[in-house]
Amino acid sequence: MFRLSVRQLAVVGALLGLLSAAAFAADNPYDKFRNRSYSNQGYLSEEEELQLGAEVHEQLRQQQRLVTDPGLNAYVNSLGQRLAARSMRPNIPYHFYVIDDKTINAFATLGGYVYVHTGLLAATLSEAQLASVLGHEIGHIAARHGLENVKRAQKYALIAGLVGAAAGAAGRSAGNLGQLAANLIAGGKLMQHSREAEREADYLGLYDMQRTGYNTRGMVELFEILRSVETTRPDLLGSIMRSHPPAAERAANTRSEIAANLQGSDRRGTENTPDFQRVKVRFESSAPPRQRPRY
Ligand SMILES: [Zn+2]
Repeated sequence: MFRLSVRQLAVVGALLGLLSAAAFAADNPYDKFRNRSYSNQGYLSEEEELQLGAEVHEQLRQQQRLVTDPGLNAYVNSLGQRLAARSMRPNIPYHFYVIDDKTINAFATLGGYVYVHTGLLAATLSEAQLASVLGHEIGHIAARHGLENVKRAQKYALIAGLVGAAAGAAGRSAGNLGQLAANLIAGGKLMQHSREAEREADYLGLYDMQRTGYNTRGMVELFEILRSVETTRPDLLGSIMRSHPPAAERAANTRSEIAANLQGSDRRGTENTPDFQRVKVRFESSAPPRQRPRY
């Protein structure tokens, strides 16, 4: 039998302490995102990003059916603006649009442009749940995930010799940016982020919600809804949602972050509002029954 001296025991204890500290750190997938600061350095300039976001919007406007209901648009926009103002990137203009599409989906492009499908609005049951979705999308914009995709696409374009897209990076002309926007949408890569980027957007969105005064349980609930849809109606999940980490993992990450660093935030704050209920009722009554998710 080994007998360790007090001194040896102290060394072993310190080592075990280090190991468990490392294990604990590795357990929290959000630790690497803490205290990050974000900027456009290494990417398109902010001015170029805003222009490119507007170009992408022009293309999407022609390809998608944007909802024109002013009440619904005003409601989503007002909620989004409040979250963006408390985000890590409050100083650019934000634009929130609703797309008439029954799949459960939401996405952000560049420079403050965020889109939500009517299918997602139909699936949410509270304003806090919807706030968690918008917070996540604003998180993508704050963390420059779209810009990262643009950068990757430009590198690819250089290698492939696609001069039009490559010129967009150097040329700065509106025409080139338009060409780059078209290529980005055609390539389908602008909104396809890595799972790590999705986790970062969840992390940032959770804190946006909390700072804006929402009950953070809304994010857990939203992931529970997505989890149920994954098993019962996977056909309703938009392609972008399908590329995210599994909803069960996202719910677990959110729960452990709340337990570790946001204790009590799931027991206070806004869950629902009369505005959400009004919009929800009107939206549901105006949507054809077949467009409602059945689960
Ligand atoms: Zn995302």
